Amino acid sequence: MRRWKEYYTPSTVDEALRLLGEYNGSARIIAGGTDLILEMEAGHTEAPDVLVDVTKIAGIEEIREEADGDGAWIVLGAGVTHYQVERHLLLQRVGTCLTESCRVVGGPQVRNVATLGGNVAHALPAADGTIGLLALDAQVEVCTLQGGEVTRVWQPLLSIFAGPGRNTLESNQMLSAFRFRPTADREGSAFDRIMRPQGVALPILGLAARVRLDESRQRIEDAIIAIGPAGPIPFRATEAEALLKAAITFNDAVVDAVIAAAQGQARLRTSKHRASQEYRHEMIAVLLRRVLPKAVERARN
Ligand SMILES: Cc1cc2nc3c(=O)[nH]c(=O)nc-3n(C[C@H](O)[C@H](O)[C@H](O)COP(=O)(O)OP(=O)(O)OC[C@H]3O[C@@H](n4cnc5c(N)ncnc54)[C@H](O)[C@@H]3O)c2cc1C
Repeated sequence: MRRWKEYYTPSTVDEALRLLGEYNGSARIIAGGTDLILEMEAGHTEAPDVLVDVTKIAGIEEIREEADGDGAWIVLGAGVTHYQVERHLLLQRVGTCLTESCRVVGGPQVRNVATLGGNVAHALPAADGTIGLLALDAQVEVCTLQGGEVTRVWQPLLSIFAGPGRNTLESNQMLSAFRFRPTADREGSAFDRIMRPQGVALPILGLAARVRLDESRQRIEDAIIAIGPAGPIPFRATEAEALLKAAITFNDAVVDAVIAAAQGQARLRTSKHRASQEYRHEMIAVLLRRVLPKAVERARN
């Protein structure tokens, strides 16, 4: 494997983006390196001359609560590791599907260094942390260096996905954080995935859901269902979500209709190393029957 020549550890976003600009296309961001280094070793990505390690940027590893006029946000720096998410007590309560999705990534060594920012920026439609974030309707903060100034813009998570393994970020941009509204009273979320027994990386299928119940705790007022891989980018089963919201109560017949809608909308494909399209189609049903009742149960309690 050809090696990089320089390795920088900037302490601010400004410094990181200036370095990327200075080396104009021959520098690349690295975080935990669990995707990037493996891709370089496998020859799928050419080693750049310069690596800019963003994990030493002040605050990028923080998880905190913030508030605006509409309520609370949970903010996670892009350098937060899967291990941090998995172990965070507040997140376990108010972002359960995210902690459940981060808990299954790789093994402990991978989770100790692999970041949420890397999981999202790598842009694979089945990435577990990404699916957990999507079900929480998370936003991503994109930082851009332009005219010597860094601007920070919160965008919907899906806006940075361009296709399998491709994001929309330019060479003067990086991700600095994610945020989502914590689940509150009458809300719950859950995640599960189907994995090959000998599998170490991406799942056959992962699915996360977030629901909000009405006052009676029988009807679903709001729902988000995220599935991956079910298309070129992480997938929201919007037709299934609409059915859930229209249903008068939550029962098995509604779940059956939701499954049919999700299966009809998903763009599943056969992958040589994981599963056939037909198998994934069936697994949508299996996962929805597991995840939806769990999210509803959590919302009821
Ligand atoms: C053994 C093994 C098992 C794994 N199992 C799973 C699994 O079960 N589920 C799963 O989803 N993944 C799995 N992965 C993949 C990987 O661990 C995750 O995708 C991880 O989150 C990547 O994060 P990282 O910090 O290591 O990213 P890196 O490898 O450092 O970077 C990945 C990409 O993101 C870019 N990048 C990183 N940070 C930023 C940023 N802040 N802004 C802009 N671009 C950025 C990099 O330039 C690079 O293109 C596994 C990997 C290994 C090696």
